[in-house]
This record gives sequence, C-alpha cells and structure tokens, in this order.
Amino acid sequence: MNPEQFYPIYLNAEKVTIDSRKVSENDIFFAFSGENFDAATVAEKAVENGALAVIVENKEFENKDKNIFYVHSTLDFLQNLAVYHRNQIHIPIIGLTGSNGKTTSKELIHAVLSQKYHVQYTQGNLNNHIGVPLTLLSIKPEHEMAVVEMGANHQKEIEFLCSLAKPNIGYITNFGKAHLEGFGGFEGVIKGKSELYDYIRDHNQIILVNEKDPVQAEKTESYSSKITFGNKESDYYFDFFSEEHFVGLEYQSTKIITQLTGDYNFTNLCAAASLGLHFGIDVSKIKSALENYTPTNMRSQIVKKGNKTLVLDTYNANPSSMTASLLNFNTFEGSKTIIIGDMLELGDQSETEHLNILNLAKKLSFDHIITVGHQFRKINDFSDSFLTTGDLISYLETTPIESDNILLKGSRGIALEKSIDFV
Ligand code: ATP
Ligand code: MG
Repeated sequence: MNPEQFYPIYLNAEKVTIDSRKVSENDIFFAFSGENFDAATVAEKAVENGALAVIVENKEFENKDKNIFYVHSTLDFLQNLAVYHRNQIHIPIIGLTGSNGKTTSKELIHAVLSQKYHVQYTQGNLNNHIGVPLTLLSIKPEHEMAVVEMGANHQKEIEFLCSLAKPNIGYITNFGKAHLEGFGGFEGVIKGKSELYDYIRDHNQIILVNEKDPVQAEKTESYSSKITFGNKESDYYFDFFSEEHFVGLEYQSTKIITQLTGDYNFTNLCAAASLGLHFGIDVSKIKSALENYTPTNMRSQIVKKGNKTLVLDTYNANPSSMTASLLNFNTFEGSKTIIIGDMLELGDQSETEHLNILNLAKKLSFDHIITVGHQFRKINDFSDSFLTTGDLISYLETTPIESDNILLKGSRGIALEKSIDFV
C-alpha cells in the first residue's frame, strides 16, 4: 500500500494516534510494537473501539480485516503519509529547532499568531521522527499556519525532519551545550542544528534570525529572505526590561510584561513578537498574547509557597540552560538555595561541565547548594549531595529549607519535580 492509496481514508479520519489508549471512533491508529506489548494485540481492540484504520507491521494481519492495513514498517508508512499530506498543504509552516527554548518559543509563536490565524502546532514535546509526522498529520484544512518543533540529538536528524516538514520559515532558537554526546561536542551541535539553515537556503525559504547571536548572524549572512531581530538595525527591535523577575520587552512605546522568568526567555519572546509583526498582527494583540502566556510543565515557572518563592525549572537541564538559570536566580533578593540535578547526555565532557557548573554556583551568592545525581556527587566535596531525588526527599522531610528563594533545576531523568511538595 502506498500513501496515495491510503490518503482518502486519512482525509475522512478524525485524528491520527500511536497511543492505543487514545483511539476513539474514526481515528487512524499506527500500531508500534513496544517493549511490553505486541502491536497485534492492540490492533483488534482499536478496531473494536471504532478505529477507521489500524496500521500494523505484523504480517499475520495481511488481508484479515478490512480496517487493518498491513505495511512493511509502521514508522516508514507514518512518515511517508505525513510527507504526502505535507505536499498537499499550502500554508506557511514554521519549523524550529535549537538547543534550548524550542517548546517555549513554539508555544509563544502559537500564542501570538493565534491572535489572527488558525494555527496548528506541535503538541507537548512531540518533536522527533514520530512526533513531527504526527504534527504534520494533525494539520487540517481549516488551519492557516503551523508551528513544528524539531528536536535532535545527533547529526542528520534535523535534515531528515526538514525533509518531512518542509518548513517555509526556519528558526534556530540557539546553539547550546546540549546533547553533546550524540552531536560530538559544541561544534557538532552548531553543525547539526544548522541543517535547518541548509534546508532553508537550498529551498529558497525564509529564515528568522536573532542577529544578537554571532553564530546565527554569521551563518545566515548571505541569505536573501530573512526576518531579523536582536539589534537596533534588525527588522524588529525590542528593549529588554524586567519587573520582579518577570521578563519584559518594549516595542516602540508598547511595554509588554510577561509571566516568564529568566532573561533567556527574552529571546524566545522576541522571536514570537517578530513573527507576529511580520504577519501583520497588531502590537496590542501581540502584547495581550505574550502577557497572558503562562509557562507550563515546570519550564521557568515561579511559584509562591507561603513566604517562599520557588523557581521550578525541572523540565530539563544542560550546561547552557543551567548557567542561564543560575545567573537569573542569582539576581533574586533575599536568601537563596539551589537544588541542582545532573545534566545528562554529556558524554566525555560530563565531568568538566558539572565541575564548571558547581564552580559557578560556588562563586554566585547562594546560601545553600544542594546537588542530586551521580555526576554532581562524584565531584562534590560537601555534604548536601544526593544520589537520587528520593534521597533528597528523605533529607527534606527532616531538614526543611528556610531560604526565601529556592531554585530547582535538573535534567528530565533526575525528576526533581517529585520533590516540590517537600521544599
Ligand atoms: P527539549 O529539548 O526538551 O525539547 P526545548 O528546547 O523545547 O527542550 P524548553 O522546553 O522550551 O526547551 O525549555 C527548557 C529549558 O531551557 C527552560 O526551562 C529554560 O531553563 C531553558 N531555556 C529556555 N529558553 C532558553 C534560551 N533561549 N536560552 C537558554 N536556555 C533556555
Ligand atoms: Mg521541547
């Protein structure tokens, strides 16, 4: 079966899912065999639940049920169908990648563009070889634009995701020290992420550039179609200010005060505002979109707990975002405790990077430094160093933290968010 033959069925479907628990009437279900279950067992159940079509790679289903389609590879078919669909779509598709701030930028861009257009966008963090096709397949005829987050942890991944999403506007949020292991160091990160620039150049599409970032500016210097921000000479220029740790931006005489903390969010906000202006959205509407946006899922969230201010940044961590987070937290007034978790996936640079962070933390004005994870433990020469979040919780149960401000930041795998109720 090829995607073209299947396309009419797709057009009649409600949604496409790979999660058997989410299959409802008229859906298309792509059955991937997981470690704990076999696709075959869930395929028939999906049909019972009213699925319009179930895609399986188990040969036993060949010609067995009119709603069950046997393909050589579920993944290939999902990607090929997404590409076929993408080729029928004639709306601007904004593709973004980068080391940090993809999801935040994606959400902000969506918030801004939704003021005027019907915009589809990546749900949650579905940004890989499965998530990108799912995002593309969620674009319906009523949508006027789409924002697609593309994630990568090794070379050629962004090139591949671009071949699926075929972005009309590309944006790299930043080049940072993330996934160093898979990319082969920081130079490798720049090379890998820049595959988006290559795609945009080779296909004469538009690039969104933060000209304040020297790498971005240099890489896109010769590009003819650009939307730029970051410098006074850029297409759009915003002044930075902050109010009680919340990031603000001023455009001409409009002041926008957001609910995001962390100076790094200024860039994410500028990117979204620039796209809004580019697409002719009134400044007053951009202001209301950005001011109303509240961060989700523990990304730079400020939570008040009694007299304490908690900064929750437990969604992710790597050397770049950790540094940015520490510098931001350092500006808080009053006593400060940091609880920092290991930064994963750093390969042979892990020890050095953890040392750098610890040394930075010691230099800044923190009253109490607590670390969680094996990497920090290895290099930590003081007592408040725990191997797991569970150990941290046991400690917090007997030793409450008295600081006015508490920062929680670590990699996803460390799951620091589990300790929130105990700080
Ligand atoms: P993932 O790779 O997990 O998809 P992401 O790139 O989507 O991550 P976000 O989820 O938006 O990134 O943000 C994760 C964390 O990165 C934030 O909580 C914040 O600490 C940091 N961060 C966000 N934006 C930036 C930025 N522009 N520069 C540096 N750090 C940032
Ligand atoms: Mg993300």
